[in-house]
Amino acid sequence: MALMTAKEYIDSLRALKTRVYMFGEKVENWVDHPIIRPSINSVAMTYALAQDPQYEELMTATSNLTGEKINRFNHLHQSTQDLINKVKMQRLLGQKTAACFQRCVGMDAFNAVYSTTFEIDEKYGTHYHENFKKFLTMVQEKDLTVDGAMTDPKGDRSKAPHELSDPDLYVHVVEQRPDGIVVSGAKAHQTGSINSHWHIFMPTIAMGPDDKAWAVSFACPSDVDGIYMVYGRQSCDTRKMENGSIDRGNQKFGGQEALVVLDNVFIPNEYIFLNGENEFAGVMVERFAGYHRQSYGGCKVGVGDVLIGAAATAAEYNGVERASHVKDKLIEMVHLNETLYSCGIACSCEGCPTKAGNYQIDLMLANVCKQNVTRFPYEIARLAEDLAGGLMVTMPADSDFNSDTVVGKDGETLGEICNKYFAAKDGVKTEYRQRILRLLENMCLGTAAVGYRTESMHGAGSPQAQRIVISRQANLAEKKKLAKFIAGIPVEEENK
Ligand code: SF4
Ligand code: FE
Repeated sequence: MALMTAKEYIDSLRALKTRVYMFGEKVENWVDHPIIRPSINSVAMTYALAQDPQYEELMTATSNLTGEKINRFNHLHQSTQDLINKVKMQRLLGQKTAACFQRCVGMDAFNAVYSTTFEIDEKYGTHYHENFKKFLTMVQEKDLTVDGAMTDPKGDRSKAPHELSDPDLYVHVVEQRPDGIVVSGAKAHQTGSINSHWHIFMPTIAMGPDDKAWAVSFACPSDVDGIYMVYGRQSCDTRKMENGSIDRGNQKFGGQEALVVLDNVFIPNEYIFLNGENEFAGVMVERFAGYHRQSYGGCKVGVGDVLIGAAATAAEYNGVERASHVKDKLIEMVHLNETLYSCGIACSCEGCPTKAGNYQIDLMLANVCKQNVTRFPYEIARLAEDLAGGLMVTMPADSDFNSDTVVGKDGETLGEICNKYFAAKDGVKTEYRQRILRLLENMCLGTAAVGYRTESMHGAGSPQAQRIVISRQANLAEKKKLAKFIAGIPVEEENK
């Protein structure tokens, strides 16, 4: 099977025995759970668009491992054009879902682990790269969704993994066996974990020689014995359990984060990609983070397109779309959004091949991209709230708009009163105004705000993580030389 349809993907999840907990209980049918299902619909869109001929170039690629047509989410980038197409694909998916579609973490893990395992084998004569190629070939052939899991819970951030009183706060090897390893620990804020067939686990920080047991990377099925997930709440998530669709904001799609726990999970040798070669933990982290910081220059931009469209529609429904300050705010939102896109494209254009042959992004530009993402979506959301007006947070429930309860002296119903006083400009149904304001609420403050706001801050690494890379790549010494030359300061003289 080369490419799964969206329906086949959803059906394939039903065959998994993934253990999921929410509100203190095990969720048996998580595929149809109203809080979880929107996030599954988002991943399903990565399958649906790959079937659509108009998106073939962005959504599919030719595998360098098998020569077959595969979903781009399972591709090893073979050129800067592949890196550019990746960002364009993510913008497209953001536009189609207005949410996090989750599958990128696997794609970014594939590309980071592929090049890192090549270099580990080169140094140590291990077989991690062959392991990984076999694993990825299986993933491509079955068109699976794989989660890339990196963020450990960490506990006291001032301590290295081996210094912590609880060793489980970083995923680690608890037993080395001839046929594999046993691992324990957890990954936090894990995007798309429940909706993935398999997981790739990677370390979250650079590791020293005392942290060898924590320098581990491997793959395992999401429903393997010993693994389970605790669902992360999102603001206003129980709206998805209410009758009627309007107050949900986003009718169909959503994102997903969970705590993924590994309780003495056995990993056979063939699925191990790093096991104690501690100096490569940091390499893997930096490469994955670089790819995912590039990713945000696509996905957040696509979601931003929807948000800008929603704000413009709200202004139109209020009859103010021709006011100059409204136009100017929309221009500012577009400018900020396209700046993020420019960074995503730029770090892709400046990409280069790794020793293993796949392409990686320009590290400096990808980190600048993500640093901007920690700021601009907040400003775009602020302007969207400005244009929407206060009603996006004070509007009564949809059930009030539909209520037959008599409230007026002349027999007016609650529904009639709501429709009268929350009317849009003439010719626009009040219901449409409700819908667009609820969408804005969802994206700025509700379930989708996880993906558009806080994830923009902390996803792919918190702002300080990018600043560290930027400072490492900044080459201030060279910049000082340039300035001294222009200013007529002899560099040798000054060093005396
Ligand atoms: Fe993909 Fe963006 Fe979600 Fe990361 S945050 S998984 S890049 S959609
Ligand atoms: Fe993310």
